[in-house]
Amino acid sequence: MAEDPNSWEPATRLIRGGLMRSNHGEISEALYLTQSFAYESAGAADRRFSGEDPGFVYSRYANPTTQMFEERLALLEGAEYCRALASGMAAVHVALTGLLKAGDHLVAGRALFGSCNWIVAQYLPRFGVETTFVDAVDLDAWKAAMRPNTKVVLLESPANPLLEITDIEEVVKIAHAAGAKVVVDNVFATPIFQKPLTLGADVVVYSATKHIDGQGRVLGGAILGDRQLLEDAYRDIIRHTGPAMSPFNAWVLLKGLETLDLRVRRQTETAAALADLIAGSPKVTSVRYPGREDHPQALVARKQMSGFSNLLAFDLGSREAAWRFLDALEIVDISNNLGDAKSMATHPSTTTHRAMPEDKRLEIGLTEGFVRMSVGLEDLKDLTRDVRRALDAA
Ligand SMILES: *Cc1c(COP(=O)(O)O)cnc(C)c1O
Repeated sequence: MAEDPNSWEPATRLIRGGLMRSNHGEISEALYLTQSFAYESAGAADRRFSGEDPGFVYSRYANPTTQMFEERLALLEGAEYCRALASGMAAVHVALTGLLKAGDHLVAGRALFGSCNWIVAQYLPRFGVETTFVDAVDLDAWKAAMRPNTKVVLLESPANPLLEITDIEEVVKIAHAAGAKVVVDNVFATPIFQKPLTLGADVVVYSATKHIDGQGRVLGGAILGDRQLLEDAYRDIIRHTGPAMSPFNAWVLLKGLETLDLRVRRQTETAAALADLIAGSPKVTSVRYPGREDHPQALVARKQMSGFSNLLAFDLGSREAAWRFLDALEIVDISNNLGDAKSMATHPSTTTHRAMPEDKRLEIGLTEGFVRMSVGLEDLKDLTRDVRRALDAA
């Protein structure tokens, strides 16, 4: 191939990146559903295991289909290196534990995805890692939380469920000054609209389950960053603890990547229109959409995102009103997933965030009236009718 894939626009990278054709010349990526690989001779096996011959040895280490997915996603992200893992949580878990050991300290934004919150609050402390949560939009709080043993900073922006935006560049400066690495969970922004590595972050993690699949089929996750850092921190952990992505899931996700740009842009257009519609309702006391001027961190969003994605949240004033809204929906599903072709809405305080104590929920502004919506690919006209009906019922 004469063209340098790094010269391609994102949509082209998503179709052509990482393509590794077999001698059959198949158009669609081959699915190598195999655990292990055979060698031509004992000497060939020896060379494979020594690393002298870079081929595959076992699918817990690497697999050709999974590698195509890794290369395609790395090319989109502009990262040197990507490792695909079984789920978004496998990715977050490996991303953190690979950089931490007993006696280290981690600082995380307090509005995190539920399971990320559990890892930081409950799991890491079991192994002697100290953890501190901060208000992720308050730069002074990040500064004050740094300690001599702070090794990792974890943030999510926009954050679940209220779409708070953290100034990634500024937090990176604070973390790096303290000698800590920055891990960004970039799920809500998607790799189409936000590039944390170009903002100085060290590691980016995804749940590929969300927009990258985008059609509700498989779980997947990924870690991206510089080759040296990722190999040193994660290679052995991934090999020996076994969070590998199934080649079947990698194949599904490769096909998901092909339409990612198209889907996310359409979903975002529809989400922006629905956010404006919802904001105009007298039943709604506040709307959170990073693309709206009334978003509390609208300026930071505009600085670091090239689009505002398909998630929005709005407050209907009470749990009863939020539930009436959800129960009146006829097209939009009641579901806690996100990034799907199907629009979904959820009541975070009784679903995704029910494990969070009420005082902690109120601390992040999550009142009982909030509904979070992930806008899908249905026609705006139909979604408008559905949302209007639900607002009337609320
Ligand atoms: C869904 C999600 C995860 C976890 O991903 P899984 O694929 O479900 O394991 C992590 N972070 C964020 C922000 C998510 O939305």
